[in-house]
Amino acid sequence: MFGRGADIGIDLGTASVLIYIKGQGIVLQEPSIIAINNRTNEVLAVGEEAHAMLGRTPQNITAIRPLRRGVIDDCDATEKMLKYFIHKAIGPRLIKPRIAVCVPSGVTEVEKRAVEDATRQAGARKVDVIEEPIAAAIGAGIDISRPCGSMIVDIGGGTADIAVISLGGAVVKKSIKVAGDNFDEAIMVYLRKRHNLLIGEGTAEEIKKNIGSAYKRDFPIEMTAKGRNLVSGLPKHIVLSSDEMLDALAQPIDEIVNAVHVVLESTPPELAADIFDRGIVLTGGGSLIYGLDKLITQRVGINAVIANEAISCVAVGTGLFVEYKYSKQNRKSRAYD
Ligand code: ADP
Ligand code: MG
Repeated sequence: MFGRGADIGIDLGTASVLIYIKGQGIVLQEPSIIAINNRTNEVLAVGEEAHAMLGRTPQNITAIRPLRRGVIDDCDATEKMLKYFIHKAIGPRLIKPRIAVCVPSGVTEVEKRAVEDATRQAGARKVDVIEEPIAAAIGAGIDISRPCGSMIVDIGGGTADIAVISLGGAVVKKSIKVAGDNFDEAIMVYLRKRHNLLIGEGTAEEIKKNIGSAYKRDFPIEMTAKGRNLVSGLPKHIVLSSDEMLDALAQPIDEIVNAVHVVLESTPPELAADIFDRGIVLTGGGSLIYGLDKLITQRVGINAVIANEAISCVAVGTGLFVEYKYSKQNRKSRAYD
């Protein structure tokens, strides 16, 4: 441990940040939230602790999600959050680590550079910023270096990223700003319109995880949802069924399935044939909504499977990327010795 620096992979997601250390696995998984004092600009809490403050802060404190909707909404806050997590995960080290960071695909070059700088300042001796679909594919156990097409659909909080990968690069890709957060919003809208019930984001997410459905269940399930009656203004609870969720979530789910369709249509025929044989791999927390794999399989006629450890896939893949890249470089430099 003291002889060589560690190789570290960071998944800087819109919903959560995960840190993977070679030889140790995932050492940190916290919500991408930071609480800041508006007056002094001081960081008050980060991650889990800041999450507890969301929606409950006095005027002088703001708890924010700096990477909303797949882009870096607040660069300064993102930098602060990233530094805090890196320090928390790796502590003081004799030898600086090599770090690869995976950012949402919608970020600009300027934002990428800001992430790179923040990572270097947080103590990295080498920094790589890598594309999410590549990291997701490596983490899902796909050998990306082969001349063979694989399709990855990564559904996070803010974006769904669809890519066809071959020979280590993305041949076709598409990113849409429809993902897990939109499922929550769709549930809130549905309850307001259909049941006159006002609920918060947290409750919507809980409903989604418990009874959300993209495909009709053989045995529907139910759940009690609590909120405020829009007519009387008083607390109210209702019993919701998973079948209702099909209606509530139809629009965002449709948009994701359509995007998969569009990417398949623009995939070169040889690669499309590979995907047909090998199937589509789903990663990211958003892919865990019940039945999305079944629905994609049915609608596009290609077998879709959820990767093992769908939520930590990108972080693991980012960590393995560092290893892969530098072992390749070492091999090359040894060849010239
Ligand atoms: P990001 O890469 O943007 O940080 P993640 O891959 O961590 O996002 O996925 C976050 C999204 O996954 C959130 O919208 C969250 O509600 C959703 N999610 C997590 N677990 C589940 C589940 N079991 N069922 C449905 N959605 C889930
Ligand atoms: Mg992600």
